[in-house]
Amino acid sequence: MKLIFERHVEGRRGFQPPKGSFAPQAALPEDLTRKTPLRLPQLAEADVVRHYTRLSRLNFSVDTNFYPLGSCTMKYNPRICEKAAAMPEFAGFHPWWPQLPGGGRVSQGILRILYETARMLADITGMAEFTLQPLAGAHGELTGSFIIAAYHRRRGNRKTHVIVPDSAHGTNPASARMAGFDVVTIPSDASGVMDFARFREAVNDETAAVMLTSPNTLGLFNPRLREIAEIIHGVDGLFYYDGANMNALLGRCRPGKLGFDLCHLNLHKTFAAPHGGGGPGSGPVGVSEKLRRFLPVPRIVRDDGGRYGLVDDAPESIGRVAPFYGNFGVILKAYVYLLLLGREGLRQVSDAAVLNANYVQEKLRPYLDAVTSGRCMHECVFSGRRLLEYGVGTLDLAKGLIEKGFHPPTVYFPLIVPEALMIEPTESENRETLDAFIAAVKDLVELAAEDPERLHRAPQNTPVGRLDEVAAARRMQLVYSE
Ligand SMILES: *Cc1c(COP(=O)(O)O)cnc(C)c1O
Repeated sequence: MKLIFERHVEGRRGFQPPKGSFAPQAALPEDLTRKTPLRLPQLAEADVVRHYTRLSRLNFSVDTNFYPLGSCTMKYNPRICEKAAAMPEFAGFHPWWPQLPGGGRVSQGILRILYETARMLADITGMAEFTLQPLAGAHGELTGSFIIAAYHRRRGNRKTHVIVPDSAHGTNPASARMAGFDVVTIPSDASGVMDFARFREAVNDETAAVMLTSPNTLGLFNPRLREIAEIIHGVDGLFYYDGANMNALLGRCRPGKLGFDLCHLNLHKTFAAPHGGGGPGSGPVGVSEKLRRFLPVPRIVRDDGGRYGLVDDAPESIGRVAPFYGNFGVILKAYVYLLLLGREGLRQVSDAAVLNANYVQEKLRPYLDAVTSGRCMHECVFSGRRLLEYGVGTLDLAKGLIEKGFHPPTVYFPLIVPEALMIEPTESENRETLDAFIAAVKDLVELAAEDPERLHRAPQNTPVGRLDEVAAARRMQLVYSE
């Protein structure tokens, strides 16, 4: 595929208005003008449109194909949320707009959106209050870890470590470590959730918190949450909920009611902003009543007269964790999504997410080894180890799926499953799509036995074939030479 510069033909150009016909020409100061001509390719308008349209078709996205990337919740997000975020009243808003009495009406509206979004998230999770500042899930975990540290400082507790199960997202131990805690890792038991006996042994007076994802990265819900909460509270430790997978629970259960003290959510994933696009993200943090005073500032409040304002005066707050109020555009998309769906709609989201994952799990059971014989939540995990006897790895299966037009699931994660495939169909896919994916996996598993070489060479019908991924990372060459 040619670069746009290679399509250059001297003198070829799109429509150019005659000089001065639309806007008056203003002279730039002499010292600011270029001395050499700008090196731009010359092309007709149609060439430019076709070039970029062709390029856009090389993209693989949720807008084009099924994208069951486990843990990432790559679902279709309604366009109306994007439209709202692009409205000039929002997109053009500047955070230094005057906020308090005498301020413009726009900022009252912005504050109201922030306030109401935080209230809805508190309602969904059973937490007392939310901060919308954190800019990603991992950033939410870090904010939560600072709150945990602030709580123990205030109580005069000597706490050294945070407990994290081995099935946790890698950001959990990293966040706890960055907040100054050691990390104690608990293995999973045969059923795939945190080993309860090992957990109980690990808890002592120096345990600051346990960070748990439920459903975890195996897609499994931990049935002993209340007991875990009791044990951790018994040593004045805190129970942290990684709620990045909240699309499995929306409208069905509230972490706050299960004994969790604080949590983060991923608005990019669960609430209508794409994940995996490189940002921006939003990882709001919710806390129970006893942790409210430690929340970051500014806090957004509403007075009895219905006016919204910002409060900076909170002596025990952990301070600011992000500029202004977080990624407003992402928060706005979540707000629109929540208003659109309402309580009933949110419940349907989690019902469909869990149903879809279980459908895929049951249909794929004959071809791959599922990690659980029971039900999963919003994602299902398989091991592709039975294909190793044909010399075919999970990576080959993933490449084969690309050839068939599907984005591969997450592979080789979670680390505790050999040859892992982690499939998250999400709630936004229909049955025909799931059936087509299931048929593709079945074909590839059969092909692995019949013609493993073909799988080793896949994908062959894509713009870029099989890359040497190690060399691409280690000896990266980004230079284009004409
Ligand atoms: C995605 C995810 C995170 C991290 O979120 P980022 O926004 O990518 O930092 C944390 N925990 C779990 C379970 C996740 O799936």
